[in-house]
Amino acid sequence: MPELKAARPWFAGIDSTVLQQNVKRLDTAYKNFFEGLRFPKFKNRSNFTSFTFVMGVKIQGNKIYLPKLGWMRFHSSRPIPIGFTIKACTVRKRQNGWYVSLRIEDKSVPDYTTKPLKDVVKIVGCDMGITKLVHLSDGSQIENPKFSTTKKAKRTLRIRSRRVSRKAKGSKNRKKAAQKVGLLHQKISNKRQAHHWKVAKKIVDRKIDGIALEDLNISGMMRRCRVKLEEKTGRFLKNGQAKKKGLNRSISDAGWGELILKIEYLAVKQGKVVIKINPKYSSQECRKCGHIDKSNRDGEKFICTECGYHEHADIGAAKTIRDRALKLVRGDSAKPGACT
Ligand SMILES: [Zn+2]
Repeated sequence: MPELKAARPWFAGIDSTVLQQNVKRLDTAYKNFFEGLRFPKFKNRSNFTSFTFVMGVKIQGNKIYLPKLGWMRFHSSRPIPIGFTIKACTVRKRQNGWYVSLRIEDKSVPDYTTKPLKDVVKIVGCDMGITKLVHLSDGSQIENPKFSTTKKAKRTLRIRSRRVSRKAKGSKNRKKAAQKVGLLHQKISNKRQAHHWKVAKKIVDRKIDGIALEDLNISGMMRRCRVKLEEKTGRFLKNGQAKKKGLNRSISDAGWGELILKIEYLAVKQGKVVIKINPKYSSQECRKCGHIDKSNRDGEKFICTECGYHEHADIGAAKTIRDRALKLVRGDSAKPGACT
């Protein structure tokens, strides 16, 4: 930090804990890289959309004090409960303004305890999808409202982004039009978040000890198709990416990863266990005879080509995920790497 501060005199205007947090961010980025993720991207000042203070933040009524920035007015959406102290404060820039989130702590509040695995008896299995967001092993389904991939939403997005591209580059009007696109994206994201919280609550708030989820590799699923070249001429051939693009958009619109995070958060609060299961063949395996075949599944229907057993394919998959979790808990067949 001292070397960086000497080279960049404007760092003097930034609170030292904010700078420290950014060094920490870089550290995690490098740690992730050494564990096999992407090399950290270069970031300049304009790339940062958030920063974190760990000390010196004060709140009085509708005013907040941020070190080096001073007192400013803010909308206090929720009062801080008595006995809690502010541990960190993150300021985030979104399309329509700046948002503050506070991490608070009360040492006298006991930690949440999760049930030991041997006491887990009732588990609900979840299978994430696109036509329905979640299929549960008890047979219930949760709708997927498709916030950004409905016909109407796609049309609005298309029109608004076309308005941007038709305005002169660098003009004020282009900036204004781009802001409108951003606002629409923010609105969609807010709606999706709200729906996710409702869904997560619906899944966790039941008489169960654990929730079995698929251990999904979402970025792997959204990877682009490999480029196909014609051998003689070296021209590009169709590789199915155009079709895949639509699916990728649906996957990111469903936001499974974010939903899983919310389920985990609520589960910890209620002392319930979240078990992540390898979903390999969960929708192709027959639940009666164990026969695995791709042609067992035909859209929503599951019909075993060996024994003729049939049921709803996704609910069957949810049940398989639940059974695999139960097996794991009982230790019948503890497959390495199946549970995290
Ligand atoms: Zn069968």
